[in-house]
Amino acid sequence: MTSLWLDREQTIATDPFIDQARYDTVIVGGGLTGLTTALLLARSGQRVVVLEARTLAAVTTGNTTGKLSLLHGGQLSQLLHANSPDVARAYVEANREGQQWMLRYCHEHQVPFQERDAFTYAGTPEGADRVQREYEACRMVGLDVTLEAETELPYPTWGAVRLADQAQFDPLDVVDALARDLRLHGGHVVQGAFVTGITRNASGIETRIGDRLVRSDRVVLATGTPILNRGGHFARLQPLRSYALAFTVPGPVPLGMYLSIDEPTRSLRTTPTHGTEHLVVGGNGHVVGRQHSALAQVRDLEAWTAEHFPGAVRTHAWSAQDYRSLDRAPYVGPIVHGDDRIFVATGFNKWGMTNAVAASLALSARLLDGAMGWADTLYNRPATLADAGDAVQVNGSVGFEMAKHWAGQAVAKHPDAAPAEGQGVVFSEGMRPVGLCTVGGDTRKVSAVCPHMHGVLGWNDAEKTWDCPLHGSRFTHDGRRLEGPALRDLESITDSPE
Ligand SMILES: Cc1cc2nc3c(=O)[nH]c(=O)nc-3n(C[C@H](O)[C@H](O)[C@H](O)COP(=O)(O)OP(=O)(O)OC[C@H]3O[C@@H](n4cnc5c(N)ncnc54)[C@H](O)[C@@H]3O)c2cc1C
Repeated sequence: MTSLWLDREQTIATDPFIDQARYDTVIVGGGLTGLTTALLLARSGQRVVVLEARTLAAVTTGNTTGKLSLLHGGQLSQLLHANSPDVARAYVEANREGQQWMLRYCHEHQVPFQERDAFTYAGTPEGADRVQREYEACRMVGLDVTLEAETELPYPTWGAVRLADQAQFDPLDVVDALARDLRLHGGHVVQGAFVTGITRNASGIETRIGDRLVRSDRVVLATGTPILNRGGHFARLQPLRSYALAFTVPGPVPLGMYLSIDEPTRSLRTTPTHGTEHLVVGGNGHVVGRQHSALAQVRDLEAWTAEHFPGAVRTHAWSAQDYRSLDRAPYVGPIVHGDDRIFVATGFNKWGMTNAVAASLALSARLLDGAMGWADTLYNRPATLADAGDAVQVNGSVGFEMAKHWAGQAVAKHPDAAPAEGQGVVFSEGMRPVGLCTVGGDTRKVSAVCPHMHGVLGWNDAEKTWDCPLHGSRFTHDGRRLEGPALRDLESITDSPE
């Protein structure tokens, strides 16, 4: 599935990979975090390279909904549940700085954006209390929100928090501008560079792409979830996948940016694309790999849109994932406490348009021996009791998924025939979970065990991928790694002739 934003010609060519080259900083990942961090460092005279496994913005940044807002759904009340008011204030300050930097950048580089009011609304009577709590949390940390009884939405709502004068954009416009600018400042962007390992030695860090390598003083892992297990971030993050669809609509469309605070989640915005105003509808999120049918989630969003926006015609459908930390605040800084060479930026909880820029500002300041005022309070926050409780819950659910799927595959029998087009099944061959699927008439058999932590993969019938229910690694139908903490492809299985 291709997003509305990625449905354009790729205009940023790749720079050649220079084997054995030396840089000040290597950035792994060419999404918003990686590109912004690289640009900030290159502007200060550092020699930097961005190593991107796929193409720029191919993963979450190119599949976002692109709201550049300080109103983050129900985030602030949840953040305050787990953290002190000082941490919540630092979160808002960081995001405000990220948003202002991005707006300035868009102005200076002629990147189009639209100013819009942002709304967090209740889609059910039960959601009204949560809206009230979010309103109070926002006021407490200095966001100038109002409480609204009505919205312009064409279906019933039960109150909304409104924050005026926020913004939205097409994330690929921003990515294009950042990548060009980075090159103007001497930075390199290498696409198709899948980092397979990072090691340190006396002269610094070696970043490996298969049997080739580059050297640097520092490495920033801007890879969504960190690709190194050191630091154990994978065990403190929940990979959350959700869906988005773009439509042309014959009638009026709401002009604000909306997000429901309750389930099923609904996110709305419009965007002027290819001369038409599209409506983008998102929602139906879940932990990666734990849905019954991803296609059913897409169909449900489409049916919902048809009901509330009669005559809407779907032009695009896509899905993507982002990572939520235990206490809802990002993890940004050294991969482990005290490390001054390898850094991570993750846990944006679907609010990375501002959080990624804030993380980039903080990391680049730190790498250049400076500091952002809010960074210490936010990113060095103490672990809380709520964290410990959530860790038990998150890892308990990972353990449950592990046991459920290993037990499930043990009883699943080899299918009698190849799966129908677009379908995949997991079954047991001896003691081994195996995945069999048919995509584009091509039937493939792969190991259904995730190379990261041995989770049993499930079939994603919307994206036609194998998804891991433990920590969110994903693979193409024929086993190539797409995203997540896994660093290897799936083993391909060829049946020996009988
Ligand atoms: C459905 C959805 C809607 C969202 N909507 C919004 C929104 O409206 N507003 C908002 O603020 N935020 C939103 N977000 C969140 C936001 O999009 C993300 O937080 C942000 O894009 C993350 O950027 P990133 O650069 O950290 O990660 P990514 O964009 O995922 O970039 C990471 C890059 O690292 C690369 N990589 C990974 N492993 C390797 C490796 N081994 N070697 C080399 N490269 C590697 C990947 O290929 C990828 O390109 C949304 C998220 C989702 C899922």
